[in-house]
Amino acid sequence: MSYKKYKADKIFDGKQFHANNPVLITNESGVIETIIEDKDAGDDIQIFEGIISPGFINCHCHLELSQMKNVVETGSGLVDFLIQVTEKRNNPEEAIRYAMQLADEEMYRNGIVAVGDICNTAVSIAIKRQSKIYYHNFIEALGFSQERATEIFEKFKDIYNTFCEAGFNNYTSIVPHAPYSVSPALFMLINHYSTGKIISIHNQETDAEDELFQANTGNFHILYQQFHINTDFFKPTNKSSLQSYLPLLNKASKILLIHNTFTHQSDIDFTIQQAKNYSQEIFWCLCPNANFYIEKKIPPIQMLQQNNCQLVLGTDSYSSNWQLNILDEIKTIQNNYTSVALQDLFQWATINGATALDIQNKFGSFAKGKQPGIVLIDHITDDKLTEQSTIKRLL
Ligand SMILES: [Zn+2]
Repeated sequence: MSYKKYKADKIFDGKQFHANNPVLITNESGVIETIIEDKDAGDDIQIFEGIISPGFINCHCHLELSQMKNVVETGSGLVDFLIQVTEKRNNPEEAIRYAMQLADEEMYRNGIVAVGDICNTAVSIAIKRQSKIYYHNFIEALGFSQERATEIFEKFKDIYNTFCEAGFNNYTSIVPHAPYSVSPALFMLINHYSTGKIISIHNQETDAEDELFQANTGNFHILYQQFHINTDFFKPTNKSSLQSYLPLLNKASKILLIHNTFTHQSDIDFTIQQAKNYSQEIFWCLCPNANFYIEKKIPPIQMLQQNNCQLVLGTDSYSSNWQLNILDEIKTIQNNYTSVALQDLFQWATINGATALDIQNKFGSFAKGKQPGIVLIDHITDDKLTEQSTIKRLL
């Protein structure tokens, strides 16, 4: 058998860095053999400047919204953002497909090997079938109505079934959009369908979310009025949004909480307790560029780290980002939290993301037998990315 050999200044294996002239050895199709020192690696070694890492995992994207690049203004706040996306997302299907194709190719070039993708329709199936990227499809249900909950759920179940029939049955789940857009009755229907599955939910992306649940006041009422949504059924819980809805999601095996920009210590404590009670794994997905785009705020990353929360990264969509590149999310975190170690950031982008999407047997690290993709990150100074750092796919 012939081998491929990659040498770099450092190799990140999914958990830690290897220095001292490491060489990564794979078979011809990129299945990992081992990492050894160059003096033991023989001939035909390809030499690179920078860090070699397993491919990155993007845990949160909306491929369907790729045609919305530069459409929504930045800094408008979440409620205005949601109104703009809802009003401007209905483009001709041809334009949507073309934008998705470009987004998929861009993510591939940017070293992304797997994506957790939010779907409100089945329009992305054709692209995903041909893509070189692995997709987990989160069929995202939304509808803030108690009476119509069953009807709404059936509509999204049809989309779920369409994905299953297209061969995605093991990588598709039905998930709630957000606490303010899913009624308790719809939460319960989704929960019953979630046993053993991975789900995600947009969590505490704006402070208006907690205000809604605590006092039934605040900006979300502008959204409900705009779309003529009758919220008479809704009763405030006097708790944060997370502490109000999380008990309604106790059957999934893994939950990805997306954004967490306005999460508090008491919410983290509550989440740890629920994970213990129901044997769930909970992941905190950070999409800092989207948070800057919409709310101009960054999540409390140090607090999440101090609580040993499992962190993962996402780009969100082109409706709230300038590019689909996990390396740029890492740069933004590093620029705002200079004390976060590069090793931690790379773990979030690789092994943690793979574990969240339940693909850790193939992706996320350079353990023998995996085929996680190989990327090169350059222009590193003193164990920090620089503005010039880029990511490029080696395999
Ligand atoms: Zn999102």
